[in-house]
Amino acid sequence: MRFMEEKIRAEGKVLPGQILKVGSFLNQQIDTAFLKKVAEAMAQAFRDSGVTKILTIESSGIAIATAVGLELGVPVVFAKKHKSSNVDGAVYTAEVYSYTHNTSYTILVSSDYLKSTDTVLLVDDFLANGKALNGLTELVEQAGARLAGAAIAIEKGFQGGGDALRAKGVRVESMAVIDAMTDDAIVFRS
Ligand code: 5GP
Repeated sequence: MRFMEEKIRAEGKVLPGQILKVGSFLNQQIDTAFLKKVAEAMAQAFRDSGVTKILTIESSGIAIATAVGLELGVPVVFAKKHKSSNVDGAVYTAEVYSYTHNTSYTILVSSDYLKSTDTVLLVDDFLANGKALNGLTELVEQAGARLAGAAIAIEKGFQGGGDALRAKGVRVESMAVIDAMTDDAIVFRS
């Protein structure tokens, strides 16, 4: 999607450690008109996939997932990153290693919100090594639900997570795929 590439070129900042900062439109301040375009494109890609639920991880995936949920008219579930007092009863859990924070954490979702009858679309802001998406995929498997695929705002293709998922047969639709990134140049996959 060219509009995502143009936005990254205009406002994205490459930080040390191959981190792309998109705080001005996606990760801290949210450009709502832009978010709507992203959500429309993601919804369009999966409109015929029978999606009944969207699954993301708190916190940066929630805004995009909610916007896509509005487009598709389905509920949005977000996996929590810590066991909290307001999640009780049976839960599905998975371990996720965070490349940006260099630590592992548990994600969990109540079994009330993911059912074997669901067809689930995963949505997230970034796809890098694929750890977050793998964790979400595990939650979907534990629920016995069907996976429609994943809609991603920005895929860092050079970190391989997206292509590994595609090789496993998961449909991954990214609004922009970055194949290389340096301080002064970003190369997008054509
Ligand atoms: P993965 O699990 O695929 O390695 O990384 C995906 C998660 O790490 C995303 O949920 C995102 O929050 C975070 N992440 C990975 N790379 C970047 C990046 O370059 N910039 C930002 N802002 N977040 C990233």
